Amino acid sequence: MKFERRPWAEPYKIKVVEPLKMTSQSDRERFIKEAGYNTFLLHSEDVYIDLLTDSGTNAMSDYQWAGMMMGDEAYAGSKNYYNLENNVRKYYGYKHLVPTHQGRGAENMLSQCLIKKGQYVPGNMYFTTTRAHQELAGGTFVDVIIDEAHDSQFNHPFKGNVSLEKFSNLINKVGAENIAYITIGATVNMAGGQPVSMENIKAVHKLAHQHGIKVVLDATRAMENAYFIQQREPGYQNKSVAEILKEFASYSDAATMSGKKDLLVNIGGFVAVNDDDLFEELRNMVVLYEGLHTYGGLAGRDMEAMARGMEEAVHDDHMKARVEQVGYLGELLDRYDIPTVKPFGGHAIFLDAKRFYPQIPQSQYPAQTLAADIYVNSGVRAMERGIVSAGRNKETGEEYFPALELVRLTIPRRVYTQAHLDITAYSIAEVYDKRDKATGLKMIYEPKYLRFFQARFERL
Ligand SMILES: *Cc1c(COP(=O)(O)O)cnc(C)c1O
Repeated sequence: MKFERRPWAEPYKIKVVEPLKMTSQSDRERFIKEAGYNTFLLHSEDVYIDLLTDSGTNAMSDYQWAGMMMGDEAYAGSKNYYNLENNVRKYYGYKHLVPTHQGRGAENMLSQCLIKKGQYVPGNMYFTTTRAHQELAGGTFVDVIIDEAHDSQFNHPFKGNVSLEKFSNLINKVGAENIAYITIGATVNMAGGQPVSMENIKAVHKLAHQHGIKVVLDATRAMENAYFIQQREPGYQNKSVAEILKEFASYSDAATMSGKKDLLVNIGGFVAVNDDDLFEELRNMVVLYEGLHTYGGLAGRDMEAMARGMEEAVHDDHMKARVEQVGYLGELLDRYDIPTVKPFGGHAIFLDAKRFYPQIPQSQYPAQTLAADIYVNSGVRAMERGIVSAGRNKETGEEYFPALELVRLTIPRRVYTQAHLDITAYSIAEVYDKRDKATGLKMIYEPKYLRFFQARFERL
């Protein structure tokens, strides 16, 4: 036997394909120049392997597509709503469900219901839309993740954990009555898809409830989190992802969900709660923002696809293939000695652009440059997560210089094969071989809000 370990393979076969346009390097040089060296401004048609995001980019199964034909598009009381409600109860265990068009719809409503002006909302690292809605509702986000999460090279099996010390210090400092609730993101997106342990959420739940504070789970990638618990936490090796997920969610009082991640759909989300009064309030509020409480901005067919996606996503075989595929790309890059963030997360691999292009100062956008160079080399599209994404200080107008200057390679679920990832790693290795010749970029157009989406650059 020459294998280092038992290989794994996708637990599905391909029935429908979407042909990809093959382009030449000189085509791609023109496309990226026209896009102002910003991968967000490329036409998706000109992209060969699209690793921009795992959000809404999932491939649906025949079972989900069959469900799309079973859409009950009644304005009120669609049967697809009841199927979704059943599955949320079965897999997550929450009593009540309100569907929303996507995750941020759920965040908006829950923040408005639970946050009083001036209250604090602790959480294990911010997420962009979550924090924005907490602030809109008059709350102040406080980061209570363990310090290790901010260190790109620190190897910790549960780098998403809450620091109980930071959480209890906050309670002592501001008083429990000034804390709206605590959010647990699992896995933690902005830390690179790092998981939270069962032991940690259990302890957070206990401490929060001792002080009458609610625990809200950002369940967007909680199934991926459950897989990491099965692989890494003592006592869970013989439990299924489904059993672990249900136990994990039982240590929370409510959840917001973006179905565009774990649940294998292209659009959809929900908020789920146990409290009857809170449910009444959400059910009333959803009418204002999303639609009636039995569709929440979704077509019946979309709710059906999400209900069915939930059944498939929670399977151990699916989750193993999903998370191990991400790790496979990370291991290939390790083999070429390419600097990445460790440990590998559940949905993406991050390249460390400061170590990749040490000669390019951060003011010349090394991660933006690297994402453009990878695209030119092979048509692989990645995303900048560094100084461009960090933006400017509102008061001083100075650019933030974040510690982490990264390029994110995000893997859509069930979309690409191992061969696509081989090409991706090969291409990044080729760019790495020529790293000494790389030069940075100059920003020539800077939008006012969330500049990374639309900023334009020129090569220096
Ligand atoms: C994507 C995401 C959201 C927001 O969901 P949308 O469906 O994009 O509105 C919230 N939390 C996390 C962790 C996410 O990754």
